Amino acid sequence: MSEEHPVAYEVVGPVAYVSLDRPEYSNSQNSVMTYALDAAFTRATEDDAVKVIVLRGNGKHFTGGHDIGTPGRDHHVSYENKAAIWWDHTSREGGDQRFAREMEVYLGMCRRWREIPKPMIAQVHGACIAGGLMLAWICDLIVASDDAFFSDPVLRMGMPGVEYFAHPWMLGPRLAKEILFTGDRFTAQRAYEVGMVNRVVPREELAGAVDEMAGKIAQMPQFGLALTKRVVNLCENQMGLQDGIDAAFGYHHFAHSYNAETRAGDPLGGMDAKAMAAANREKDN
Ligand code: ZN
Repeated sequence: MSEEHPVAYEVVGPVAYVSLDRPEYSNSQNSVMTYALDAAFTRATEDDAVKVIVLRGNGKHFTGGHDIGTPGRDHHVSYENKAAIWWDHTSREGGDQRFAREMEVYLGMCRRWREIPKPMIAQVHGACIAGGLMLAWICDLIVASDDAFFSDPVLRMGMPGVEYFAHPWMLGPRLAKEILFTGDRFTAQRAYEVGMVNRVVPREELAGAVDEMAGKIAQMPQFGLALTKRVVNLCENQMGLQDGIDAAFGYHHFAHSYNAETRAGDPLGGMDAKAMAAANREKDN
């Protein structure tokens, strides 16, 4: 792991492997990781030999979500915008600052990555929490090991879920409400049953199962894959995905601002990484 290079990149045959590489911090996503991911995805897209992109995590977990408390947290650092034409957030205040940053780093990046014209497979093991769901969901396929677990406990901060609010489309409205209202973890098997996950395999078979799927896809014509991905995504948009996410994003920011107004200026409602972990532990016991 390197704090300057939190994403590893490797191409084997027709497959690019993009690996989250902050295992010491459960691959929690800071902005330097987000821009490194963006660079890796761009590289894989531009490499004609790459037919399929696999997104995975080094260490014990896929990812614990957005960085809300490691020493490398960099939410006040300025990066060149890639996903949104908007002003830099660092010179702004309050809701203006949060909106500018999250439009770019969270919502904009997820939408940008969803449009990548090559099939993407999320290879998920261990934790896939909150911002981790966003990363898995923008992939076209998800293959999970039987030890994988998922959750979006962001309501604990008084907020209606993470920024890329695809829950009702990925889980169906009932399970979406259940996991949001309770903050409960759900298993790979449950995710499979509702169609969020394509395959669940034993942990030791995970990499092989992903490679097998990637190998099959890689035999298809590249341009045809790009068009097919686009068609399914457009249909998903017709099912209201994008409008729903835009609506939810407004409420998400209203909640950040409400927290900032009423919780001693803290847009996360007083819940840092430690408090979130403690609250989840308490609930699970
Ligand atoms: Zn937010």
